[in-house]
This record gives sequence, C-alpha cells and structure tokens, in this order.
Amino acid sequence: MSFSNLGLSDKVLAAVAATGYTTPTPIQEQAIPHVLARKDVLGIAQTGTGKTAAFVLPMMTMLEKGRARARMPRTLILEPTRELAAQVKEQFDKYGVGQKLNVALLIGGVSFGDQDSKLTRGVDVLIATPGRLLDHTERGGLLLTGVELLVIDEADRMLDMGFIPDIERICKLVPFTRQTLFFTATMPAEIRRITETFLHNPVKIEV
Ligand code: AMP
Repeated sequence: MSFSNLGLSDKVLAAVAATGYTTPTPIQEQAIPHVLARKDVLGIAQTGTGKTAAFVLPMMTMLEKGRARARMPRTLILEPTRELAAQVKEQFDKYGVGQKLNVALLIGGVSFGDQDSKLTRGVDVLIATPGRLLDHTERGGLLLTGVELLVIDEADRMLDMGFIPDIERICKLVPFTRQTLFFTATMPAEIRRITETFLHNPVKIEV
C-alpha cells in the first residue's frame, strides 16, 4: 500500500514524500479515504499509530479549496493539553510547507489578544484546548458556525481531565451538518455515549 492510492492531493503527497514516509500506517490507510469522502470516523487508536497524520493529511487536501472568513474557522481540532495541541500544529507546519493554510493555536498561558487578532485574519485550522476555546466564544471573538469539520482527539484523556461538559457545549456550537472525526484509545461508557450523541453513522476503525 502506498500513500498515492488514498485520494490525497498532489501537493499533500509531495509533502509526505518530502518527510520520507513511504507507507501509510494502518489507521492512515483505513481512515484517510473515509475522511476525504466526508464520513464521520470513530478511530480507536493509541498515540504512536500515526493517527495525527490520519486527520492532518486529508484535512490539508480538503482545505486547498475555499478560503477562511474572519472569526469563522473552517475546521476545529480539540486537544486535551497545550502540549498535544502544539504537536498537532507542528505537523501542519511540517506537511504544510508550500501550502498557504492559516493554522492557529488557542491554548491557555498565551496572550489572549494575540490569539484574537489571529482570529480576525481568518483561520483554516483552529487547534484548541476546550477551556480557552470557550473563553473566546463567550467573549464574542470566535464563531463556530462555519466549522465544516471537527476533530475530537484523545477523547478518553478529555474524560479523565473533566472536559466532557466543555466538549458537549462545543459540539452544540458547531453546525449539525459538520463532519466529525473522533479519536480515543479506549471506550469507556461515557465516551461511547458521546460518540452516539455527536457522530452521525461513523465508520469505526480500530487499530
Ligand atoms: P502519532 O501517532 O500521530 O503521534 O504519530 C507517531 C509518529 O509516527 C510521529 O512522529 C509521526 O511523525 C510518525 N509517522 C506518522 N505517520 C508515519 C508514516 N506513515 N510512516 C512513518 N512514520 C510516521
């Protein structure tokens, strides 16, 4: 299996080749075609399986068309910690060489004003921790009604950290018709309930 059969754009394939990856990992091989087909995906996968690229690469392909509007991000990735959010941003920077995507981080411990001015410039990919994201929506500087794709990553860690009520609030601020990609390493009952509420006919992938 090679990356070229998954439906990724030529630009993204060139970026993948430049990083030296030759073979997609199982989660990449199984998830990428469904993400590009605009299906909801429930991925049960640990860190280290290549799950980040399984959503970053097809998102980059999808975002080549269209443009972001001020304060209305086109896609949203939720991460439980600042460190994980920063790592996902690094992956966009790594593969996104040559692509003009605006990728913004909304995490705690960073100046609110700088983040706000970034939002005014229009954001293709917003990577956020739940608390800081809700701070911005409550202050009126961020609208989630344009989000076409929502990624909830490390959902079981979100549960451990008490973020499920925040996740439920955020899921109600994004359009009902968005696409959702949901990743978790384990499936406790509370996580199963969330997937039943917020995913629409998901393709389930377990690696
Ligand atoms: P992740 O599970 O997303 O945290 O990724 C684990 C590590 O695997 C990261 O350092 C990636 O850069 C690397 N990686 C992701 N996809 C591939 C691939 N197809 N081939 C080789 N390494 C990869």
